[in-house]
Amino acid sequence: MALGALAPPRAAISARSIRLDLVNTWTTVMSSSDYRETLGVSITSQGVTGIGEGAPIVRYGESAAQGIEIVSSLRELFASADPAQYAKLLDQIFAKIPGAWATKAAIDIALHDWAAKRLNVPLWKMWGLDGAATPTTTFSIGIDKADVIRRKVRDAAAYPYLKIKVGLTNDEEVMEAVRAETKKPLRVDANEGWKSVDEAVRKIKWLETQGVEFIEQPLPAAMLTEAGEVRKRVNMPIFADEACLHAEDIPRIAPYFDGVNIKVDKAGGLRQAMRMIDLARTYKLKVMMGCMVSSSLAITAAAQLSPLLDYSDLDGNLLIKNDPYDGVKVVNGRLVLPTRPGVGVVARR
Ligand code: MG
Repeated sequence: MALGALAPPRAAISARSIRLDLVNTWTTVMSSSDYRETLGVSITSQGVTGIGEGAPIVRYGESAAQGIEIVSSLRELFASADPAQYAKLLDQIFAKIPGAWATKAAIDIALHDWAAKRLNVPLWKMWGLDGAATPTTTFSIGIDKADVIRRKVRDAAAYPYLKIKVGLTNDEEVMEAVRAETKKPLRVDANEGWKSVDEAVRKIKWLETQGVEFIEQPLPAAMLTEAGEVRKRVNMPIFADEACLHAEDIPRIAPYFDGVNIKVDKAGGLRQAMRMIDLARTYKLKVMMGCMVSSSLAITAAAQLSPLLDYSDLDGNLLIKNDPYDGVKVVNGRLVLPTRPGVGVVARR
């Protein structure tokens, strides 16, 4: 190349929003909705295109529109960057952009997809993981009226583990409806729904009689010492979710919980999620990975880390009707990773 000024960009980045229609109206303690919008990111360089997806979280002031704007602001950085050095590039992006974790996650996934495709290996192989050593994954049942929950539990017959959302005023009704349909092991997520130590202890002791393996985030995120008090009074392991978003949260929450639920969208990508897994292990915490409602792109990307997990809750792609991608599969409740290069998804036709 004779003149630097005329050289083509080393990497081109672009973003778009992806509308995902939900199979069921989704209700948790926090919200209720019929569709979700995620952010899709593409990075092209040296004839290879990497793709990524992030699910912006309204609670943290994120949106797909904000993500598209941030990605435009990074075009110049990518024009002179080598995506093979994605670690350095991600450090530069993290230094430049505050917050916007889902946008960072979409970019991070696209970079990992690109790097592994460039090496022509699946991402799990690039990381030195055993792609066959994946955990079972739960199928989530959102809060609803008893008859709807019973139908959802019947529809989830293929999944040996269910994750039940509780935390509104009808916890007993929800659990009774589930138990009227199945004896499967359950994991329960209260999404910060209980407001005092006594309430949480009473509910958890009751759940201990209902065949529940563990409980996620019984109290509001800020109630850390209270979570520790609950933990002393019950036998069921307690996992942090909303209380633990980023790597720096882990040392702070570790004394009060038995495990953490790590989410790529909240962590800011796969690299950050991997740091969180390592740190959680250092603090002897059990590790699960959860997800937002996303297409198979983000879910398959997160699943690449699943050989490192104790539990997985990667079902966000099973909750949508118009998944644009085909990727990780669930067979007998276990994640089956693709063997294609990169994240390993292909567009559905
Ligand atoms: Mg949760």
